[in-house]
Amino acid sequence: MAKTAKETPMMQQYNAIKAQYPDAFLFYRLGDFYELFNDDAIKGAQILELTLTTRNKNADNPIPMCGVPHHAAQNYIDILVDKGYKVAIVEQMEDPKQAEGMVKRDVVQLVTPGTKFGTQADAKENNYITALTHTQAHYGLAYADLSTGEEKVTTLMESEEVFNEILNLQTKEVVVDASVEAAITEKLAKLGILVSQQPNTPTQAEVSFLTQTLTDTTQQLVASNLVGYLTLTQKRSLAHLQAFVAYEPMRFLKMDHNSRYNLELTQNIRTGKKQGTLLWLLDETKTAMGGRMLKQWLDRPLLTQSTIIKRQAIVAGLLENYFERTAIQEALVKVYDLERLVGRVAFGSVNGRDLIQLKTSLQQVPKLRSVLKTLPGNIFGPLVEQLDPVSEVTELIVTAINEEAPLSVTEGGVIMDGYSDQLDQYRDVMKNGKQWLAELEAHEREVTGINGLKIGYNRVFGYFIEVTKANIAKLDPQRYERKQTLTNAERFSTPELKEREALILEAQDKSTELEYQLFVEVREIIKTMISRLQSLAQALAELDVLQSFAVVAETYHFVQPTFTDDANLEIIDGRHPVVEKVLGRQDYVPNDIIMAPDNSIMLITGPNMSGKSTYMRQLALIVILAQIGSFVPASAAILPIFDQIFTRIGAADDLISGDSTFMVEMGEANNALKHATPSSLILFDELGRGTATYDGMALAQAIIEYVHQNVHAKTLFSTHYHELTALADELTGLKNMHVGAIEQDGDLVFVHKMEDGPADQSYGINVAKLAGMPDALLVRAKVILNHLENQGTASLIQVETNSSTIATESNIEANETIPTNQQAVTASEVQLDLFAQPVTDSKQQ
Ligand code: ADP
Repeated sequence: MAKTAKETPMMQQYNAIKAQYPDAFLFYRLGDFYELFNDDAIKGAQILELTLTTRNKNADNPIPMCGVPHHAAQNYIDILVDKGYKVAIVEQMEDPKQAEGMVKRDVVQLVTPGTKFGTQADAKENNYITALTHTQAHYGLAYADLSTGEEKVTTLMESEEVFNEILNLQTKEVVVDASVEAAITEKLAKLGILVSQQPNTPTQAEVSFLTQTLTDTTQQLVASNLVGYLTLTQKRSLAHLQAFVAYEPMRFLKMDHNSRYNLELTQNIRTGKKQGTLLWLLDETKTAMGGRMLKQWLDRPLLTQSTIIKRQAIVAGLLENYFERTAIQEALVKVYDLERLVGRVAFGSVNGRDLIQLKTSLQQVPKLRSVLKTLPGNIFGPLVEQLDPVSEVTELIVTAINEEAPLSVTEGGVIMDGYSDQLDQYRDVMKNGKQWLAELEAHEREVTGINGLKIGYNRVFGYFIEVTKANIAKLDPQRYERKQTLTNAERFSTPELKEREALILEAQDKSTELEYQLFVEVREIIKTMISRLQSLAQALAELDVLQSFAVVAETYHFVQPTFTDDANLEIIDGRHPVVEKVLGRQDYVPNDIIMAPDNSIMLITGPNMSGKSTYMRQLALIVILAQIGSFVPASAAILPIFDQIFTRIGAADDLISGDSTFMVEMGEANNALKHATPSSLILFDELGRGTATYDGMALAQAIIEYVHQNVHAKTLFSTHYHELTALADELTGLKNMHVGAIEQDGDLVFVHKMEDGPADQSYGINVAKLAGMPDALLVRAKVILNHLENQGTASLIQVETNSSTIATESNIEANETIPTNQQAVTASEVQLDLFAQPVTDSKQQ
């Protein structure tokens, strides 16, 4: 038999569509399935664990194929998109029964990582898509969350800033136009971010108003690029997209991505999750919108004192008024995700239940307004007015939508009785029909004398009278027309029943049709109020975050910080809130952080595991908390407003370049020295330990001097190099602090208490002992140490290593603490501190 390689019309259609979406998996609707063909099928079958089959098995080139049932498609689409792929959904554009020839098909949506709608599970996170362009002067960056309609745009000078923004936004997809250099797209791809090319689509009039408020041409360009991409992928109404808001990163407290990461603001370093982060501690929000806003606030702490103070006043008000706060929380619990509901209204994917949720949410607003108004001092100010109950929408839904609406909007049961006369009439017919059927059943039982006679309905045969086989003889064959035979029963119709059936079915058809039409009308009316609903959502989110701050302040004993303009920093009994929460309040040792206006550098010495890094992080967290308007974990706090935070803490592997730790360390230090101002905060944790001791110490000293003379930023510098403490003699703005440790029964115990002045011992050997090192090794270390101290030199080979010098426990008490630095030496008379390497404490194991 001759086999032909000629394409079937269906495959021609498929290939034509696929050619337009070469980089997407094409989900091609065929009846109840979405099919994948060719390479899509081979790759898709593997990723989705589907069975790979072929189409046209007998042809020369059978076509690889796999498929998923349409009702389960969402799951499969999510899997692919979460893995960074795009999926083009191809639907039948006409009813196959009515189509002449090939059924028309087209792509109805292109789902991409950046345009995927969040699921319930990640309701508290935004899914941002970013667009990037590069003009001569600068980069334009725009981002949007398609599910909420939020849109922002900015201009940035350097590619570093671009990466910072992109990483902070945790964007999964960046749309670039031809101006963006390959170096950037390659770096993005390395970071696992999908890079999509900007298509050549002019922005439609429908959406151009979104960008019309922008004055900067680069911003206009990148914003319309983004909207163009969204329009192209979504192919439907984007009426919920909000006009772009231009922002300047400089207007917020600036932190690079590494700092945010190392401070574990929103992402746990070990798990990548929220648990164990500052966000986790702070999140007492009741709504998804509040959860998202809290994260946004943490990403962008404020610089404007007056705005911060307004937030603080509300937190204080809520803290003092327990009754009102509880009432607010109770109302907020009943508020659903308005932003995403509104998004679904625009998209046309909203259902009756969604509208009931919208209504329930809106009904909370008048309650909230009246509670807020009772709070003294008008602390909420304009926020109360922004709580617009949009009562037209509430009333519309109350009168139009059934409380118990089903999920489907096409099968009836959505619209309330009394909303439409026409619908009521149809329903009357249906209801009377039912009544009539009940009466008919009673009547038939009576005349036939068959008690078990039933009237029933099924989709295929319609209404019927059912009689068991045993009773059939009792029926008059003239009147009862047989419709269907079952094993034990027969089903019949009668002329009266047929007539009534036609009426009922017609009413049913018409009523579901009308219901859908009415539902769409309601949806379209709500669509005209989207921006009011969005503005309400913002106000509710803000209120939610502020009540969350109040709860946190109360639960964890936070206080309201005050701000100064004179660089005075005074934190009494400060705590690292997350460590405290994990350890328990009774086990956490609070510490003061005091730096007078002229005190720019705090040099912190102390053994490993004593709490230096926790102390430094605690300051950064307190600063961030204060500048988002939250209270802070301390018993009192006076703070300047910081413009930037630079950190060099923790592991420092550069995700992008793969640079060595030391290189990254120096890069970060350099970044701080270059960009910090006297209003910045710098945290350097054991800077220089990544290189040889002398090298490291020399660099550390030079960096401290540089900060002291040129930068004047408030700087916390922890170090193992005790020798550096002598710098206090020369640098007036440098203050020594140390973490004490005490010996108990010969063992070293960390008390985590910060004290003035330099540490007098390094305790390296004691920490090694705590870590469980062999006694003989510890003893040997002590011999070497003594030798070095006497020699004042670092030449290890000169220390004798023959067995006679290896002491045993009998002649040296390993428990004894070992002084390494009894007198402060000037930094130029540096000594080798052999034990400056980090040691793991048994606590960490
Ligand atoms: P270092 O930076 O000096 O090596 P860390 O700051 O990493 O020490 O602290 C080590 C451990 O000590 C932390 O994991 C924490 O459990 C505990 N710790 C630190 N500071 C305190 C404190 N103020 N109160 C109680 N425990 C603390």
